[in-house]
Amino acid sequence: LSKRLEGIFNNLSGQGKLTEEDVNAALREVRIALIEADVNLKVARQFVERVKEKAIGADVLGSLSPAQQVLSIVNDELIEVLGGTEGKNKLELSGNPPVIMLVGLQGSGKTTTAAKLGRYLRDKQGMRPLLVAADMYRPAAVNQLKALGKQLQLPVYWEQMGADPVDICVNALEHAREQACNVIILDTAGRLNIDERMMEEVRTIRSRVQPHEVLLVADAMTGQEAVRVAKDFNEAVSLTGMILTKMDGDARGGAALSIRAVTGLPVKFMGVGEKTDALVPFHPDRLASRILGMGDVLSLIEQAQEAIDEEEALKAQEKLKAGKFDLEDFLTAMRQLKRMGPLRSVMEMLPGFNKLLQMPEMEEALESDQLKYVEAMILSMTKEERRNPDIINGSRRKRIAAGSGTKVEELNALLKQFNEMRSVFRQISTGKGPFAQLMRQYGKGG
Ligand code: GDP
Ligand code: MG
Repeated sequence: LSKRLEGIFNNLSGQGKLTEEDVNAALREVRIALIEADVNLKVARQFVERVKEKAIGADVLGSLSPAQQVLSIVNDELIEVLGGTEGKNKLELSGNPPVIMLVGLQGSGKTTTAAKLGRYLRDKQGMRPLLVAADMYRPAAVNQLKALGKQLQLPVYWEQMGADPVDICVNALEHAREQACNVIILDTAGRLNIDERMMEEVRTIRSRVQPHEVLLVADAMTGQEAVRVAKDFNEAVSLTGMILTKMDGDARGGAALSIRAVTGLPVKFMGVGEKTDALVPFHPDRLASRILGMGDVLSLIEQAQEAIDEEEALKAQEKLKAGKFDLEDFLTAMRQLKRMGPLRSVMEMLPGFNKLLQMPEMEEALESDQLKYVEAMILSMTKEERRNPDIINGSRRKRIAAGSGTKVEELNALLKQFNEMRSVFRQISTGKGPFAQLMRQYGKGG
């Protein structure tokens, strides 16, 4: 999506209020992104309609293009639909003890998730979980959970093959009390397909044990199928939420949006790998970016709103025009750019800098940890040295390197970089030299 959007960014310019045309252009791309991310067609259409209503006529913020502004509204709306920010996605842990029941189709990841969740609740919340092997449908299921429990040193409650899953769950409550466990995780049986006997079993356990959470474990890779499964389960047994597994694969998480829209169920965790630590609490904002496939663009917008101190940018531009540019400006520019993330996407936002920043040296400098050293070196200089780097001779170099914990060669590289940049600035301000010529060739930049 990012590439196509860049096209739009370039085509749209100007400020004021968002027109219907601006909005439609950006939303076309959004709709495609949603569908590519496996969002249900109807959900995608409804979503886009809602955004459109909000977007038309909205003010365009100073530093954003209309397309960026639309995307910012899209992002907010997406976060809202995915669960907002007020903790709907938290686990209910206030029971005494809280019982968490995992349900879902076979292979969706229930048993793995039971172990992951146990580990998470112990390590992150200091709880004492009991895992309960209540899948009597698949012969190996009990052993699988027992093995995971052993590996994680978590207690597992199980009974001999042939025992009644409902009894197992009821007995497990008693066992948890004896073992002083304060949260219970039930791993129940699935089927390859929705099946009335499975539902009946789930319903019976639900009514006998009264779990505080009944979470559907669904495989995000199955996309639209996961939506149908969620709907059926919710109608049959009334769920409290979802855990989406296999989000480490290619799935872009559109299923989560569809499921939210269709069932209203919050997603509480995401499985992001086969290992037992691969479980993360669900963050609507992160999934929103992922669904839109434009994480960089969106964080850029947010960060730009915070980070660009317009005055500072203006000042830098003035200096640039005047051909004055010292190491302090260099550091300020580097810091600002670093905060704003991926350099390439930043260029358009700083009118004075765009072409200049396409220099490979600059990009290299901003990646990695180099900025830390650059900061250390510049801060180890005297004011005079920063303002007038030409005075930094051999003995000064040694002092600065020692003071900043760097090597003289690194300082030399920094000064070389700075000199190159300054020479470019001079070319810009005087309009002479190959770089200035290049800029004239490529239009208005600088
Ligand atoms: P169950 O039948 O619902 O209990 O599913 P299992 O817990 O046995 O998991 C089925 C398969 O999915 C196993 O091979 C797991 O390792 C795998 N799996 C579960 N969760 C994830 C996940 O988040 N990411 C990946 N890549 N694999 C997962
Ligand atoms: Mg299982």
